[in-house]
Amino acid sequence: MTLNNLEIDTLVVGAGQAGVAMSEHLSKLGVPHLVLERKRIAEAWRSGRWDSLVANGPAWHDRFPGLAFDLDPDAFAGKEQVADYFEQYVRKYNLPVRTGVEVKRVLRNSDRPGFTIDTNQGVIHANRVVAATGPFQRPVIPAIAPQDPGLHQLHSAAYYNPEQLPEGAVLVVGAGSSGVQIAEELLRAGRQVYLSVGAHDRPPRSYRNRDFCWWLGVLGEWDAEIAKPGREHVTIAVSGARGGHTVDFRALAHQGMTLVGLTQSFEGGVARFQDNLAENIKRGDENYLALLDAADAYVARNGLDLPEEPEARKRLPDPACLTQPLRELDLAQAQISTIIWATGYGVDFSWLQVDTFDANGKPQHQRGVSKEPGVYFLGLPWLSRRGSSFIWGVWHDAKHVAGHIATQRTYLAYRDREQRADAEQTSSISNVSTFGAH
Ligand SMILES: Cc1cc2nc3c(=O)[nH]c(=O)nc-3n(C[C@H](O)[C@H](O)[C@H](O)COP(=O)(O)OP(=O)(O)OC[C@H]3O[C@@H](n4cnc5c(N)ncnc54)[C@H](O)[C@@H]3O)c2cc1C
Repeated sequence: MTLNNLEIDTLVVGAGQAGVAMSEHLSKLGVPHLVLERKRIAEAWRSGRWDSLVANGPAWHDRFPGLAFDLDPDAFAGKEQVADYFEQYVRKYNLPVRTGVEVKRVLRNSDRPGFTIDTNQGVIHANRVVAATGPFQRPVIPAIAPQDPGLHQLHSAAYYNPEQLPEGAVLVVGAGSSGVQIAEELLRAGRQVYLSVGAHDRPPRSYRNRDFCWWLGVLGEWDAEIAKPGREHVTIAVSGARGGHTVDFRALAHQGMTLVGLTQSFEGGVARFQDNLAENIKRGDENYLALLDAADAYVARNGLDLPEEPEARKRLPDPACLTQPLRELDLAQAQISTIIWATGYGVDFSWLQVDTFDANGKPQHQRGVSKEPGVYFLGLPWLSRRGSSFIWGVWHDAKHVAGHIATQRTYLAYRDREQRADAEQTSSISNVSTFGAH
């Protein structure tokens, strides 16, 4: 099928998990559509993640309802297994995905309904466009990064394994799931590691025989529609590595890692850190304990027979780096050769040239239905709930967005009595196009 001048009802841009979920729901509702992916299905899981990465949630949880992983449900799928899973999903549901096609620009038509879409394989016309290009499109390295050509600096998105780094100590900035997992891998590979720790949530990997994914589910936290006040930008530090374990910063420090506070600046070869390490660790502990308390209350309330686990409340002694935190570090003296910025991502919607972004370029939408009629977003953090950017959450958001599209199509397919009579006469009612105004 050649793409040039194709007319399609709904165009989905991106075939990560969001695009795949969208396509499944559109297919079920009989909405003609096409998914365009510039690289491969679930490309981010193949080339945008480090080699040893496994899913943060167990296989029974981090999946779509329509297909189980070919794995022990309590195991953690490797990144390639996750990508294979989405490829298998596309095959299972026979979803219309075209890979190797990049969407370059989407413009609303001025003279007729719908959008004109420029791709590297020609021009497409669509009534609707779903942006499923991911929550984590553009690696963000803060402006404080030192301009020192002697230092090897990379974003966590470009980290693959310890061997790729030059010899020497490593400063990892950011202690969310990426930063803490990478720092731990480097420590285990024999590197001297400094980890800059900001505000974080730190749930137990499991408690009373249930994974934290289960607890956040039954406690309604994945479905929370807004972040708790002041916790909007707080990262979650979890790990499925080596069968899964609780992220314990004190344990890492006792194994030789040096924890430091938020990275503040670099000047003359010296890194400075904020005086907030103890506070950040304390708030992470509070988050951890609050989940144990909520879990205990849930068990009691529901009379569940789950084994008590008092040892989960025990804490290792504070390491020296926590009681006397480093405020500055001479990089050369500490033999730091590499800085890894595990500092998150931004979005890039420069290709979507429609009227639905605020002054900061943030998409304006309600549960994925944008301010610009006919434009939809999927997969963004907190699109409708906390789980929105994760595998299990995006599937539910896709269902909502697909439902909205199907409803709009029903309105547009409406014909009044006169039109129906005309159509009956020409026996063409079954072929009536819904290509209409928004
Ligand atoms: C390190 C890391 C680990 C994670 N681990 C988990 C986990 O264990 N469990 C979990 O549930 N979530 C996890 N996530 C979060 C989330 O599930 C992933 O980020 C996931 O890749 C998001 O899927 P997506 O489809 O929304 O976006 P993406 O996977 O980024 O897919 C978007 C797709 O759009 C394509 N694209 C972009 N622009 C264009 C264009 N102009 N034209 C055509 N195609 C385009 C891209 O090539 C890409 O394939 C993790 C995230 C990170 C960063």
